[in-house]
Amino acid sequence: MKGKKAHVITYGCQQNENDSERIRGILLDMGYTTIDTNDDADLIIFNTCAVRDNAEQRVYGNIGALRNLKDKKPHMLIGVCGCMTQQQHVADYIKKRFSHVDFVFGTHAIYKLPQILYSAAEQRVFDLEEMEGIVENLPHNRESSVVATVSVMYGCNNFCTYCIVPYVRGRERSRKPEDIIKEVEGLAAQGYKEVTLLGQNVNSYSELPFSQLLNMVSEVSGIERIRFISSHPKDITNELIDTIAENPKVCKSLHLPFQAGSSKVLADMNRRYTKERYLEIIKSLKEKVPNIALTSDVIVGFPTETNEDFEHTLDVVRQVEFDMLFTFIYSKRKGTPAEKMEFALPAEEIKKNFDRLVSLQTEISARKNKALEGTVQKVLVEGYSKNNKEFLTGRTDGGKIVNFPEDKSLIGDIVGVKITNSAPWWLAGEVVTYN
Ligand code: SF4
Repeated sequence: MKGKKAHVITYGCQQNENDSERIRGILLDMGYTTIDTNDDADLIIFNTCAVRDNAEQRVYGNIGALRNLKDKKPHMLIGVCGCMTQQQHVADYIKKRFSHVDFVFGTHAIYKLPQILYSAAEQRVFDLEEMEGIVENLPHNRESSVVATVSVMYGCNNFCTYCIVPYVRGRERSRKPEDIIKEVEGLAAQGYKEVTLLGQNVNSYSELPFSQLLNMVSEVSGIERIRFISSHPKDITNELIDTIAENPKVCKSLHLPFQAGSSKVLADMNRRYTKERYLEIIKSLKEKVPNIALTSDVIVGFPTETNEDFEHTLDVVRQVEFDMLFTFIYSKRKGTPAEKMEFALPAEEIKKNFDRLVSLQTEISARKNKALEGTVQKVLVEGYSKNNKEFLTGRTDGGKIVNFPEDKSLIGDIVGVKITNSAPWWLAGEVVTYN
């Protein structure tokens, strides 16, 4: 494949980003170079997300738009993988509707990519294999040279009634601690300073108590910051809270999806905690880790959610004062229990509630960021800002994005940045202390 060019397009969460890094790693090992456009590509792979319908529709639109390019360049291979294609009905639809797609594989078959590509040059390939184990030691071509994600477990056993993930990512499988530590040591040797431990439900890691895994990772010399995502409130332990409080390398931030404020809706969602329990966890976190930065995911318009239920969501947001929220309007997913539920509210009402939530959170985020103006924050410099190449960008310990003018020699350093300006979703400042 020497000299051939590949474009990998990623949708969705950090797990998908991590999978795409492995896909690119395999392609580089095969001799491909990776590029960011379709026109010059010999291979295009869509790594898809199945969590929301609008993302799926975008993927179909983008696949359809490649038909003319494929007519002009019949040797070019087009493939689709990820959570969407792990569903048989999606794979069947792609097979029928998009004859220019050469191969489809699911979330379990990344390790077979070379074999799939060689076969796809001869005939169309549809590989939806599911597997129990974990394939270690796949090459990674990482986006950043400073911060890296490390998968610690795959799949999910929770079956929240709105969620497609357990059906497309399979049951929970945890990596062995020694394999995780080996990967983190390798990253530290390459100069990485921060790792984010990844899993659909990272705190149900099964090989050890998750807090113990965090402490083991923190012993890897060179790694200065550790984050983890996503946590499930039902699996938060006192030991985990104590580890966040006491281990200086574990960032003082937590992403803890609450999804809905009403205990009745939470039961319908099969979330296995109540509003009261969620607020209790937050109280304990705030007591033990005073400046903790909190973020969460919220779904508005779950089928059984009434306006009264939705008031509980606003109440949780007011009480917790999250630093940031990822807000979504419920999206019906084929094959999930919620697909069959009747809607309590019409779409316009759901949209109104969604707008109220976004405006409340914007006000809270703006206020919290404003309060940081004048303070000095420790920022790990990750690289150039995506929007303005004159600025460097990095994150505070709490995970907030900070932009500042400086020289690229600081990339990879932790510096003190005095915050001079803020907006709801970012901070800006100037470096006042160097490493
Ligand atoms: S915990 Fe629930 S929302 Fe998260 S991946 Fe598992 S089923 Fe989906």
